[in-house]
Amino acid sequence: RAKGLQRGTACYFSAEMGQDARTRMQLLNSLRAATGSSQLFTVYQPKVCLQTGRALGLEALLRWRKPDGELVPPDRFIPLAEQAGLMSVLGSFVLHTACAQLRRLHEAGYPHLTMAINVSQAQLREPDFIPLLADMLNETRVAPACVELEVTESMAADDLNLMRQRLEEIRALGLTAAIDDFGTGFSSLSVLRHLSADRLKIDRAFVAEIEQDSRIARMVVNLGHSLSMTVVAEGVETPAQRELLLQLGCEEGQGWLFARPMTEPDLLNWLAAQRP
Ligand code: C2E
Ligand code: MG
Ligand code: MG
Ligand code: MG
Repeated sequence: RAKGLQRGTACYFSAEMGQDARTRMQLLNSLRAATGSSQLFTVYQPKVCLQTGRALGLEALLRWRKPDGELVPPDRFIPLAEQAGLMSVLGSFVLHTACAQLRRLHEAGYPHLTMAINVSQAQLREPDFIPLLADMLNETRVAPACVELEVTESMAADDLNLMRQRLEEIRALGLTAAIDDFGTGFSSLSVLRHLSADRLKIDRAFVAEIEQDSRIARMVVNLGHSLSMTVVAEGVETPAQRELLLQLGCEEGQGWLFARPMTEPDLLNWLAAQRP
């Protein structure tokens, strides 16, 4: 369970601040107050075999619902949390929650499922990230091989050596690793060769355009395979996209065509409906 952090360090507004800065600061103060409360929770989106549609695993996605009911998208609050130094607390909350969820799913008769968890650059930079990860796996008693950490390619461009080292340490603990949102960052293709990862995730943008132009998707699938990675397509929304991805040789997929991110009760219903 995440503990409230830096509660005493609220930010104050000043007259010369722009509206935008002010909105961000208000959001940050609310986020600090929300840390460790039930306003922050995780949902789970299935990842399926593209061929059969069967669930292979889940991805944990963080959600923040403010007391007024507003759902703040992670693309808005995660960068803010990173800048404010809150991300390691939020990150370990997600790691714990998702691994505990996986443990329950394994015990509920789904022993084959894996759990993918997004980790941010700030988390990887923490000097004790790896020992904390090892502790967490022991506490939640999940097999490391069932847990995958997702990092984005854009992080690699920032600090390639750190990224390389962390990916090696993560895999030495027995976890798997995925490169998320591939193709949207600005790192060169050769960066990928130096990163040891098990999966490559094609960014949703290339899946969205695949019916008009499949060239980038094809390139990412081929690149992944030539580096011995399994390729996952994000944001699969239509049967035609799934069909084209299968033709390209992409193995796995996630998207609204299969399932939306869900809370535990909805996930259990979805999994039960898939049972043969
Ligand atoms: P991501 O890891 O690439 O996650 C995929 C995003 O695509 C999710 O957005 C998911 O809800 C959305 N999505 C899935 N299928 C579809 C689809 O068929 N169509 C469309 N249009 N969207 C789809 P979400 O949950 O808003 O998360 C956005 C990003 O925030 C994530 O991108 C990830 O980078 C970050 N994030 C989320 N949770 C965490 C977390 O716990 N830790 C960290 N560090 N980052 C997180
Ligand atoms: Mg992800
Ligand atoms: Mg992604
Ligand atoms: Mg994405």
